[in-house]
Amino acid sequence: MIDSARLGLPEFAPGHVWLVGAGPGDPGLLSALALHALDQADSIVYDALVDPRILRLARPGAALDYAGKRGGRPSPSQPDISARIVRLAQAGKRVLRLKGGDPCIFGRGAEEALALAAAGIPFRIVPGITAGIGGLAYAGIPVTHRDTNSAVTFITGHNSTGAVPDGLDWESIARGAPVLVLYMALKHLPVIVERLLAAGRRPDEPAAIVSKASTPEQQVLVSTLGEIAAASRTAETPAIVVVGEVVRLRAGLNWLGALDGRRRDPDPLERCRQR
Ligand code: SAH
Repeated sequence: MIDSARLGLPEFAPGHVWLVGAGPGDPGLLSALALHALDQADSIVYDALVDPRILRLARPGAALDYAGKRGGRPSPSQPDISARIVRLAQAGKRVLRLKGGDPCIFGRGAEEALALAAAGIPFRIVPGITAGIGGLAYAGIPVTHRDTNSAVTFITGHNSTGAVPDGLDWESIARGAPVLVLYMALKHLPVIVERLLAAGRRPDEPAAIVSKASTPEQQVLVSTLGEIAAASRTAETPAIVVVGEVVRLRAGLNWLGALDGRRRDPDPLERCRQR
């Protein structure tokens, strides 16, 4: 049980909904507010990407309600999930809506919050650590470094129908930021890479895929933009794709590997400048 008084945490009142980010996997990355919500919730509506170790932290007696795909059947529609959450709150439950990573990045958190607002349900948004930042940090890949980039672009490789988002201006994306972080991108990676190369990104640029980041099954595949699509065939999901010079820093910052005794390169960027 978390000491909510010591931390000055707000009360989780009946009839309220907390829309909470559960982070990429490691339960250690939960916020104090997320733990408090797990302690207090009557009803927990969770998505496929919430780590099972986190669900085991729920208060005994809390009702767990899965809102993802089941047995090959399509996921419940977003209006159905929103309606379910509204009904639970109207029945006077403390509803914890638990989502992987951060609820407001490619997680439909805003859609659900708008439905709650429309129904007049009081709610709170509790940010979580997103896979595209925290998951990469677990692979020793920082999304910025002063010597490599002053901007990052977060992209989804899927639109709401599952296709490559055609509304995206790939030319501008390719030119816009030296580091690109792609969510939900494995399926369409060959097309995405083709567009980035056509728009002028270099095939020898470093790229990586981090699968199941921050879980015991984390896998990191380091390659180049030109070869990452072929390399991705062996990658497991969920996976984040990152393109840019920051990937080289993993040679020095792979702290998880170092805990297992692997040697690190003290200055990976210097080595790349010498080439
Ligand atoms: N709201 C989530 C993203 C949901 S979209 C967040 O902030 O992280 C789902 C995508 O997130 C997946 O397709 C994958 O690209 C990424 N993802 C989520 N958890 C991940 C993990 N543990 N490791 C790697 N990628 C992850």
